[in-house]
Amino acid sequence: MQVIRASVLGFCMGVRRAVELAYREAGGGGKIYTLGSLIHNPYVSVSLRNQGIGILKEEELPPDLQGATVIIRAHGITPALEGALVRRGARLADATCPKVKSGQMKARALTEGGYRIFLAGEAQHGEVIGLCGYAPDCLVVGNPWEAKAQAEKLSSQGRKVKTALLGQTTISSEEYQSIAAEIQRYFPDLEIIDTICQATKERQRALTRLCDAADAVVIVGGKESANTRRLLAIAQARSKPAWLVESVGDIPADIDAYSTVGLSAGASTPDNLITLIERALISHCERPVGDTG
Ligand code: SF4
Repeated sequence: MQVIRASVLGFCMGVRRAVELAYREAGGGGKIYTLGSLIHNPYVSVSLRNQGIGILKEEELPPDLQGATVIIRAHGITPALEGALVRRGARLADATCPKVKSGQMKARALTEGGYRIFLAGEAQHGEVIGLCGYAPDCLVVGNPWEAKAQAEKLSSQGRKVKTALLGQTTISSEEYQSIAAEIQRYFPDLEIIDTICQATKERQRALTRLCDAADAVVIVGGKESANTRRLLAIAQARSKPAWLVESVGDIPADIDAYSTVGLSAGASTPDNLITLIERALISHCERPVGDTG
C-alpha cells in the first residue's frame, strides 16, 4: 500500500500563528488562558492543557484577571469583550488572524464612513460575532435569500444609504457572489470588499486532486472541526471510501485492502499528528498478511 499526502493540508497560516503564540506564552510564567478552545482539535487542546493553559468561557469571565494572560483566538473577538478583559486586569496576547483583523479594520472604517454593512456569514460563528463588534449596525446574511430580504427591507425605508458587503473569511466565492448579486438588485452601488481567505479552498482543491489518485482517503482532524468534516464530505461525494481519523485508533482495520491511500487534514490539524497517522498507515500496510494486531 502506498500513502500519498495532499499537496496542501493541515494548519492554515492563522491557526499555526495562534498555536505558536500559545506555546510561546506558556513558557512565560503566570496564569494563561485561551478564550474558548484555541482550535477544534482534541490533540492540541490536551497539549495546551498540559502546558498549563486553561480555557475561559466568555459568559463566565472571572471578576479579577490581574496578572493573567488571555490569548485571543484566530477568529478574533469584539472590542467590547477586549475591553471587558482589560478592565479585569488581563494582558491580551492577540492571535487574531491578520486576515480576520483586516476585515475588522475594514468593518470599522466603513461604519465610520457612514456605510451600512451587509456581513455574509454564519451569525453564530465566532469570527462573525467578532466582526459585528466593529460594525454594530451590520446586517448579517447567511445566504442569498436572507440577503434579498434584508436588502429589500433596507431599501424600502426610502433613505439614500451607502452600502458595503463584507464576508466571513471562509465563505465560498460562489455563495459570496450570489449574496452580492441579490443586494445589488436594490443597491447597485454596493461596495464589495474581498475578505475571502483561500486557505480552506486550497485544502479542498488539493483533496479533490488527491481523490483522483487514491483508492481511499484518510482525513486527519478533530470531529468537532467544521472544515475537517467538510473535507470528509468532499471525499465521500467523490465516492471514495473515506474516514475522519482523530487518533491512530480510528484507522480502519481493513485499510490495507486499498493499494493507494490519500492523506489530507483539516486546517486545525497539527503537523505532528499528521505525521503520526501517516507513519501508522505505513506500518499498518507493512504488517504481514493475516496480522490483525
Ligand atoms: S482560514 Fe484563513 S482567515 Fe481563517 S485563520 Fe486560517 S488563514 Fe486566517
